[in-house]
Amino acid sequence: MAAWPAITDIAEGVKTGRLKAVEQVKQSLKAIDDAAEYKAIIAKTEKRALERAEELDKRISNGETVGRLAGVPFIAKDNFLAYGADTTAASNILKGFDAPYQATAIERLEDEGAICVAKANLDAFAHGSSTENSDFFTTLNPHDKTRVPGGSSGGSATSVVLDMVPFAIGTDTGGSIRQPASFTGAVGYKPTYGLVSRSGVVAMASSTDVIGPLAKTTKDAAMVLDAMAGQDTLDSTTIERDDSYADLSASLKGKKIGVIKEYMSEGLDKDVKKQIDEAIAKLKEAGVEISEVSLPSLPLALAVYYIIMPAEVSSNLSRYDGQRFGYTYEKAKDLDESYSKSRSKGFGREAKRRIMIGTYVLSSGYYDAYYKKAQTVRTKLINEFNEAFSNVDFLLGPTTPTTAFKIGENTDDPLKMYLSDIMTVAANLTGVPAISIPAGEVDGLPVGLQLMAAQSRDKQLLQLAKAAEALW
Ligand code: GLN
Repeated sequence: MAAWPAITDIAEGVKTGRLKAVEQVKQSLKAIDDAAEYKAIIAKTEKRALERAEELDKRISNGETVGRLAGVPFIAKDNFLAYGADTTAASNILKGFDAPYQATAIERLEDEGAICVAKANLDAFAHGSSTENSDFFTTLNPHDKTRVPGGSSGGSATSVVLDMVPFAIGTDTGGSIRQPASFTGAVGYKPTYGLVSRSGVVAMASSTDVIGPLAKTTKDAAMVLDAMAGQDTLDSTTIERDDSYADLSASLKGKKIGVIKEYMSEGLDKDVKKQIDEAIAKLKEAGVEISEVSLPSLPLALAVYYIIMPAEVSSNLSRYDGQRFGYTYEKAKDLDESYSKSRSKGFGREAKRRIMIGTYVLSSGYYDAYYKKAQTVRTKLINEFNEAFSNVDFLLGPTTPTTAFKIGENTDDPLKMYLSDIMTVAANLTGVPAISIPAGEVDGLPVGLQLMAAQSRDKQLLQLAKAAEALW
């Protein structure tokens, strides 16, 4: 399958009539079928996509003005409420759930003329780092079919890297956009918390959930962000946006980047480290001022995340009671049995594990020892990040400690699986924007470089990433 042109070129072509939206959608649907063996897709939204494309082409030939993403096909992770197929979040309990409205993010992309062609696989409810927790199937890494694509947005990342679409959207609660981007060689962007509305997205941990794009280039990711970002009356945590994220011209000269000491030491694969060191050297050559920055509470971030996140998960998943959405246990003799059987049969192992941990850390006997303490450390971490950003413009490190691991390698040991989030969770706990861009390979497997900025400095971060990308 041929690579897609830049998003702006596709939209420009469609707007001028040189390209047809219908042809873009057909090309995308064909690429999805051709790469079916990678199992990146849960369902296609073929009928609706073709109808929308035809309508768009008609409007263009009638001389009507259309949006900046006219005719650009995309894939949404299956935890976005979208028309045209069920919304399952890759869980059995949501099978058959037909969304009554669409996520704001999807509505905004559609308003600009983008066309959703399919729903991508994920770890059920976005709990995971490999797509192996999907209740349906595991997605394969596009570079090596014996390896995972990362998670939880593994289907979205794979769909972009295999050129099924020019971009996909995902969610990042603790790294689920950046980690699969790193494992597959895509660009994955996690915006500042609140920059993109969470309305219509299946909630995981509401205080860290963000929505963002996966694409081949930073420029394309920024175009997508530009269409989605900004306040939304349906999500009271949304924040004001910058004027535009689409203009990314900026120089690297004089920018100050702090290399995160805690990420460059123990536990980091030495070949991954070599790639990151090479990237740092190139940034230096380009005039970036590099220094080392220490964030002493960082080693606690993973433990903090795995207390706060399950606490919020246990609360968010309580709405799946077998009565209102998706699956219901039919043979229950009363309502209580219906609740408990629908949940015990509908939820997978990982969702249950997180519900139990979350309920435990929130219980009156343990609240102070776990949840409250974790929130205290989270505040400490936020203060350390603020302090760091008063000295440097950006922070840098690897996205993950290793390249993509083998399918099955970590499934028996959840703690080992959780370790692959060690470098991504801090950005979620502190709400800062973070991006993973490809930076070389180790034995044919992509390495991701992670860059972060202070809250709401999304535009500056995207400018930096675009300029960095051009160096290698
Ligand atoms: N891998 C992390 C987890 O399992 C992050 C998930 C996410 O960002 N959705 O919780």
